[in-house]
Amino acid sequence: MGVFPPLRDDLGVMDGYHSPQVDVEVRLNTNESPLPPPAAFVAALAEEVAATAFNRYPDRRAWALREALAELHGGGVTPENIFVANGSNEVIQCLLLAYGGPGRVAAVFEPTYAMHSTIARMTGTAVAQGERCADFTLDAHEVRRVLEAAAPSVTFLCSPNNPTGRVEPKDLVDEILDRAPGLVLCDEAYGQFASWSALPMVDEDVALVVTRTYSKTWSMAAARLGYLVGPRRVVAPLWEKAALPYHLDALKQAAGRLAVRYTAEMEERVTLLVSERERVAAALGSLPVDTWPSEANFLLFRPRTRAGPDVWQGLLDRSVLIRNCASWPRLDGCLRVTVGTPAENDRFLAALSEVL
Ligand code: PMP
Repeated sequence: MGVFPPLRDDLGVMDGYHSPQVDVEVRLNTNESPLPPPAAFVAALAEEVAATAFNRYPDRRAWALREALAELHGGGVTPENIFVANGSNEVIQCLLLAYGGPGRVAAVFEPTYAMHSTIARMTGTAVAQGERCADFTLDAHEVRRVLEAAAPSVTFLCSPNNPTGRVEPKDLVDEILDRAPGLVLCDEAYGQFASWSALPMVDEDVALVVTRTYSKTWSMAAARLGYLVGPRRVVAPLWEKAALPYHLDALKQAAGRLAVRYTAEMEERVTLLVSERERVAAALGSLPVDTWPSEANFLLFRPRTRAGPDVWQGLLDRSVLIRNCASWPRLDGCLRVTVGTPAENDRFLAALSEVL
């Protein structure tokens, strides 16, 4: 009975962004933390969960969480500068619901995080694609060309860039801020692994927002929590107009607030992963693969002697799952490996040597 409507035309042509969730011994495909958060955090959260008034809606403004994040960042960041949602993907969706939409354009520089374009299209925002150079750096002329031709309401940067691992130089971010006719969103999902951050550039008079996530460095991918830091005039409509009422549940608000009490432990995990990244990068350097410098918790590489998908399958046959980017535009034959624990990285490197 009834009529099943066809899918929206503009969704029909879109590819989903999925990584297979298969059961393997070594999972290095989605840039999660290989390590759990501290046991003390889990215990503190369990106490909060037990004390939660489950019959009541959560604090719609997530104020205590925003206070905790403002304190974490310091440097003049206030709770009014922070918008929080269910993962930084949802933060980006809310931003585009508010500042993109039909008749507006979002600019991206490919190859980059595929969800930027996907979320733009989901929200009816047109996408203007700029091109990175062959080494995946971003050329200022190309940036100018895209900004002038497309006049984007939102310009996406991703630093470090997924899946290439490169950070954008500060000069380039300055130049983009000078020239962009709309908001600039700097996605720093991997910001804590990198040598610099755009966060200190956030200012009430600068059209810049920086997104961060709990999914990577905070070892909380299961919780789905992300946020942005930006000028108050950009942030307020996100809470008031773009997010659904009570979009952030009480348990998640508590988790986010408690997590930042364990910043030193987070930084220790980051230090370990950065040193492991350098170790894996050096090991890749002695194998027949091309690699690119990374300031994130993953490395992009391209096997020289065998096809990317064959290498990916060979690793999977050895119970090591990495990301197969070989068929993605501009990433012909490339694979991306997340940095894991020392033991996981050893398994990956041994399997890769065997396969190659
Ligand atoms: N931005 C980038 C660059 C990412 O790589 C990811 C996760 N793959 C996200 C945002 C989304 O993260 P989450 O929604 O888990 O916060």
